[in-house]
Parts: sequence; C-alpha cells; structure tokens
Amino acid sequence: MTDIQSRVGELHRLLNQYSYEYYVKDNPSVPDNEYDKLLHELIDIETQYPEYRAEDSPTVRVGGSAQSTFEKVNHDTPMLSLGNAFNEEDLRKFDQRIRDRIGDVEYMCELKIDGLAVSLKYEDGRFVQGLTRGDGTTGEDITENLKTIHAIPLKINESRTFEVRGEAYMPRKSFFSLNEAKAANDEQPFANPRNAAAGSLRQLDSKLAAKRKLSVFLYSVNDFTQFNADTQSEALDELDQLGFKTNQERQRVQTIDEVMAYIKKWTDQREDLAYDIDGIVIKVNALDQQEVLGFTQKSPRWAIAYKFPAEEVVTELLDIELSIGRTGVVTPTAILEPVKVAGTTVSRASLHNEDLIHDKDIRIGDSVVIKKAGDIIPEVIKSVLDRRSKDAATYHMPTHCPSCEHELVRIEGEVALRCINPKCQAQLVEGLIHFVSRQAMNIDGLGTKIIQQLYENNKIKDVADIFYLTKDDLLPLERMGEKKVDNLLNAIEHAKSNSLEQLLFGLGIRHLGVKASQVIAEKYGTMDELFNVTEETLMGIHDIGHKLAQSVVTYLENDDIRALIDKLKEKNVNMTYKGVKTSELEGHPEFKDKTIVLTGKLNQMTRNEASNWLALQGAKVTNSVTKSTDLVIAGEDAGSKLAKAEKFGTDIWSEEDFVQKQNEIEG
Ligand code: NAD
Repeated sequence: MTDIQSRVGELHRLLNQYSYEYYVKDNPSVPDNEYDKLLHELIDIETQYPEYRAEDSPTVRVGGSAQSTFEKVNHDTPMLSLGNAFNEEDLRKFDQRIRDRIGDVEYMCELKIDGLAVSLKYEDGRFVQGLTRGDGTTGEDITENLKTIHAIPLKINESRTFEVRGEAYMPRKSFFSLNEAKAANDEQPFANPRNAAAGSLRQLDSKLAAKRKLSVFLYSVNDFTQFNADTQSEALDELDQLGFKTNQERQRVQTIDEVMAYIKKWTDQREDLAYDIDGIVIKVNALDQQEVLGFTQKSPRWAIAYKFPAEEVVTELLDIELSIGRTGVVTPTAILEPVKVAGTTVSRASLHNEDLIHDKDIRIGDSVVIKKAGDIIPEVIKSVLDRRSKDAATYHMPTHCPSCEHELVRIEGEVALRCINPKCQAQLVEGLIHFVSRQAMNIDGLGTKIIQQLYENNKIKDVADIFYLTKDDLLPLERMGEKKVDNLLNAIEHAKSNSLEQLLFGLGIRHLGVKASQVIAEKYGTMDELFNVTEETLMGIHDIGHKLAQSVVTYLENDDIRALIDKLKEKNVNMTYKGVKTSELEGHPEFKDKTIVLTGKLNQMTRNEASNWLALQGAKVTNSVTKSTDLVIAGEDAGSKLAKAEKFGTDIWSEEDFVQKQNEIEG
C-alpha cells in the first residue's frame, strides 16, 4: 500500500468516526475545525489523485445517517450541505465563478444558524411531517418532537401544500439552563447548543423534547412553484406572511465588498445574538440564476457558507514549561505547536496548576484541544484520548524549584505549588519586573531582558537599586546605546516623583492590588503614617479585609523592608500621596455618579487618559454595557458594546462629542 493510500484510509476512518460522534451521538470528540481540516486534506488528495476517490468517500456524503429508532423517510429532493469558505479569498473566488457564469448578480446574506437542518411538510395548511436531514437522501421522522416547538405553526391560514426547510436550534438561554440542570444531576453536559438541539430532537419521548425549549428559523422552500417568489428574498417574505419564523437579520447586497461588510458586522456582533451562529450563508438571490448554476453532488453551486475563524482547534502539546511568579507560585505553561485560533497564532497556554493537569490527564505529546477563553486567553480544554501515543507518560510536577532548587511546598488549602525561598532568583526578578510595570512605578524602557541582565550582573538586587543605576552600569548591556541609556535614566528619575500608591503597589505586598493601594495611600497620605498603622485601623477601611490588613502590617513591620524604604528615601523617591482626594472631588454634574463605558479606538487620547479624566469628574467607568449604563463613548470601530448600547437606547457620544464637552468644562 502506498503512503497516500494509507493516509486516505486513515482519513476515511477518522472522518467517519467523527461524523458518527457528531451526527448520530450528538457528542463530538474534536472541534469542527479539526473535522474540516481533515476533510479538506482528503478533498485535496482526491483532486490530485482521482484514482483514490471512493464512492462512499466522506467527501461526497452529506451529514450522518438516519437512526433506526425513528422511521426513515426519503426526502422529495435531497437535503444538501453547503460549500465552505474560510476567508476573503475563498469568497472572492466564489463571486468570480458566479459572475463568470451568469454575469451581474444580487446576493442574499443570511446568518448561518448553528443547529440542525429540518424539513417541514404542510398539507392543506396543516403541519403533517417533519424530518431531519439524515444522510441527505433519507431522514428521520421526528414529527412529534418538532410539534413541541412553538415557533412551528401546526396550521397556517391558507390551505396550501408545500415543504419548507430551516434550522432547528436551541437558544443560548435554554442551553445554559439545560446544562446547569445536567450538571446538578451529575450528567455529562452537551458540548454546544447544536449538539443539545440535535440530541433533544432525537428524544424518543416528545415530552422530554418539549422541555428543551427549542426554536426554528426557516430559510428555504423546496419547490418554488408553490410560491409567488422569483427570488430567495421574496420567498422568505412570503414565509413571514404565512406566519413562519424567518431570521430578520438577512440582507440583500450587490457586491462582494458588501458581503464582506455584512460578515464583519456579524463577526463583531454575534455574541449579542440570543442563539449561536457559526458563519454566514451567501446565496444568489434570483431563482432563475440559481437554476442555471445548479448543484454538485453535495451542495448547491449558487450558495456558499463562510465559516467564522475556529475558536477551538487541535494542536500538539510539545512540552510543559514552568515559570515562577513573584510570590513563588509555580505555574505550568503548555508549549504548543503554533496554531491559529480565532484569528491569532497561539503557541503557549497557561495550564494554571498541577490539579488541572491531573484532572484533565494532560500529557506531553498529546493532541490537545485549545480554545480562547473570552476570545483572548488561550486555554487547554482536553486531550484527544484516541490519538494518544502508547508511551505518553502521566505528568508530574518537579519537587524542587527549577530556578533555585529549593524544595517546593503546597500550602494547605491552596492548589498552587510554591517556592518559599525568599532569595529565589526567579521570584526576585519577577518582583523587579512588577515594580517597574505600568500600573506600578511605570518606568518605560526597563523591560524583562534588561532587568534579567542587571540582576545577573549584580547591578540590581532589590527595587531600590534601580534608583542607584548609573550610565556605566547600563551602557555595557546588550543593545544599549547612549540615547537609550539617557532615556532610561530620565524615566527612572521621573519615577521618583510618582504618587505613593504607585510605590505601594510596586512593592508587591501580598494581596495588595491597584485599587487597595490607592485607597490606603489616599487615607494615610505618607509612608511614615503607614508605618504606624495597625490591622484594626486598616480593617476599618471599607473594602479592606483581614487577610490584606495582616499582610500589609506584617510587611511594613519587617526590618529588611524598613531598610529598603530608607534606601529609597535616600534617593528622594517620593513617599507621599499626590492624587486628588476622592472625598474632595466635586466632579462635573454632566458626569458625576454616571456609569460610563468607553469602547472602540480613541484618536485624541488613550482610553486610560479618558478614563482617568472621567473618574476626576466623579464618573464610574465600567467595562460592559448594561441597562444601567448612562453613557457610551464610542471611538473608531466600536463593536458589540456599541450595538448593545443601541439596543438599550443608552446615550452614545462620539470621541468628538466627548472632546468638545471636555473643552467646555476645562474652558
Ligand atoms: P454546514 O454546517 O457546513 O452547512 C450546511 C448547513 O448549514 C445546512 O444543512 C443547514 O443546516 C445550515 N444552515 C444554517 N443556516 C442556514 C441558512 N441561513 N441557509 C442555509 N443553510 C443554513 O454543513 P453540514 O454538512 O451540515 O455540516 C458540516 C459541519 O459539521 C461542519 O462545520 C463540520 O465541521 C461539522 N462536523 C463536525 C464534526 C466533529 O467531529 N466536530 C463531525 C462532522 C461534521
């Protein structure tokens, strides 16, 4: 057997297995993008070597198969799949093919609802039969279950006979409450609303299906001669009039650029929908043009589905790297074969702690599913067990610190392993990096690499040493010119006059965050005042609990810390609070006590500057738009937050409106 032949065999095996898990079991073991990737690999091989194209190849099959538990029924006309596009180039090629064949064209853009295709038959205005797509030729009769969906009219006002097709889906709200209930019963949750919808419609007991609160969007009619429509758009309007539920976000467009704009809009706003969509379907609108274009074995030539970038993908776990944080916590990080997730390339992901690695049984060498949580932070979801190599060993954390070799400990009640050696180099360097970071002393130009070198050359051992650095210390470092050194020394000089809260936060006192540093600095005013503070008085401040009060007092009592503060004072590092006293803030009535959200790109100031200015006016600047948001200031390319504000009828200002108001206030 040739290599290609055996790969084809392997691809058939995997794709058939995944299809079975997805369509029949409603329980996929890999993300869609993995299935799509393998399917495309097979399509490419079959294009290049047609002799390997089998009649029953997964590339020509539509969907899964009809399950024997339901009656199998042949479709009047096949229920097909859709061709896929994954990027702009694919779409432009599709557009070109269409225009080459039929000339000018109008498209209908529709949301691609992530559910399962169903066909509904009406006879003399009554709903008589509902089928799943099955393998495209034969579906399952799930009429009784479909009757439980309120959005499907059991009878329409006109005595007509026809078939309509659409997507049954589970709204997100129903999905979350279903999974909550499953978790409460120790049952395995559904992976996503699509699988939950499919699983629900395959319940043999329709009373159970009724509890699942499904819905449906109709998107096509099977035989247009039964309708008065010349276009897809007219057909959908007619369905609306007959009392069917169609998706109202559809839009007719004339050019591929308009298609791209529609895609962009829904890429940004899909999270705000009450249901999941996995892409956009683009259809030639005129029915006579559709007829000219016709079908392939698997899909219509007059339509294409653009798929959103994958949010979950499979890649290989090459290694597990350990890093030591400034508090000694050892964090394992997954080193991954670089892969694109939701638009960016990911090569590392935090594994958080040892328990997580063991609970998920993640092993070096595994194929792992990764996802971007909240679309930002990559996370390892699970290993694909049936791809694990026989010699993949269970992972064990080391017993000793990889930096200083001190024994690691697990403090009772904590999941993290910690290095408790106060002289551990990795921790000290992390502490220095924290000290100069933006929200702390904000020393521009003093990056991780420079700090590491200075530490290794014995030029800085504690945070105060930074203020003792000279030109001679800095010039010999890698990639350091005169100019850079001058800038850096200026930045260090400048940092000496920072307000007390920045210094406090920078010292890295356990549990003391930015906000509490601000509150404490404002309340006590100077470092010397703080030296006299007790746990009780600190706990008297709203928001400050016992753990934090104890940590601050213990820290400041320490002789080494007192010496460190003296060392800082010697270099004239400021030890007083210079900010505005919140209690004395009058604010401006336009903003005082208002809840404001900033979104989009601002051109005339940074978001931080805008936010600080608003805080000085007594406003509360928050992150997400809710019904109680008073004002949204929207810069360029504002996305879903702006859409939400529009939905809630919240006041919306442009950056220009905001700047104008600032000018009025400041005169
Ligand atoms: P598809 O989902 O790519 O597109 C066709 C389907 O889109 C139609 O059948 C219809 O149900 C749906 N659709 C939604 N809105 C529509 C609209 N407005 N107009 C027309 N159709 C609309 O194709 P498919 O054949 O149903 O399924 C393939 C999908 O299943 C792929 O995304 C694939 O990744 C996934 N899959 C995943 C696994 C896995 O293991 N994870 C296995 C098999 C298949």
